[in-house]
Amino acid sequence: MGTNYRRVLLKLSGEALMGNMGYGIDPEVVKEIAQEIAEVVATGVQIAIVVGGGNIFRGVKAASAGMDRAAADYIGMIATVMNAMTLQDCLERIGVQTRVQTAIAMQELAEPYIRRRAIRHLEKGRVVIFGAGSGNPFFTTDTTAALRAAEIDAEVIFKATKVDGIYDADPHIYPEAKRYTSLTYAHVLAKDLRVMDSTAIALCKDNNIPILVFDLTVRGNVRRAVLGENIGTLVGG
Ligand code: UDP
Repeated sequence: MGTNYRRVLLKLSGEALMGNMGYGIDPEVVKEIAQEIAEVVATGVQIAIVVGGGNIFRGVKAASAGMDRAAADYIGMIATVMNAMTLQDCLERIGVQTRVQTAIAMQELAEPYIRRRAIRHLEKGRVVIFGAGSGNPFFTTDTTAALRAAEIDAEVIFKATKVDGIYDADPHIYPEAKRYTSLTYAHVLAKDLRVMDSTAIALCKDNNIPILVFDLTVRGNVRRAVLGENIGTLVGG
């Protein structure tokens, strides 16, 4: 299989692991995602993953209910580690070598984040899963994805979601909404299109990292994306 990318940063939101449940992790869904990742890794593409935590805990939401924001965000970061370890388990069970690296040290269960070590793992064909976000409250895992992509020199961010790209209006409310096949960072920022938070978009813009937004629930989409098919919306310069 001729692939288009050598090193990819895949951003999986917590919701992607939740499937159709209202909360938590659907093991069947994670198994399917792991299968897709395994297929792509087998072709020699290097995959690093940043996982979200919104299926378990969201700092902003807890803060709006009165909790201290920083404290809530630390809990959110720990939630991402649960997701990271679940994904690791699913990947390892189907023979994919992985390492979890966390931005908050949890040495009994994962490696600490060490950039050069992460790159080495990727070069050896291991999937590296980044947990605990950036390690800083007031950030998101989308921003973490942009940061890690820049650090490890990924060629692209795959923002896997439950919709097949970016629309000019909410397609659930407006059936005639139009999907963009490509967009500039400037347009996304100016129109405040909520694909990723503005910090993440700005970081991608500054470092020239394209973002492909696509629907993860369609089987085979990760492979198609790696092959360079524009199956969603490509955000670039
Ligand atoms: N979080 C954080 N700093 C980070 C990344 C995440 O504080 O660098 C916290 C924040 O509270 C966030 C939660 O972790 O709400 C889960 O991450 P996110 O909401 O980005 O997950 P997703 O929406 O992708 O599921």
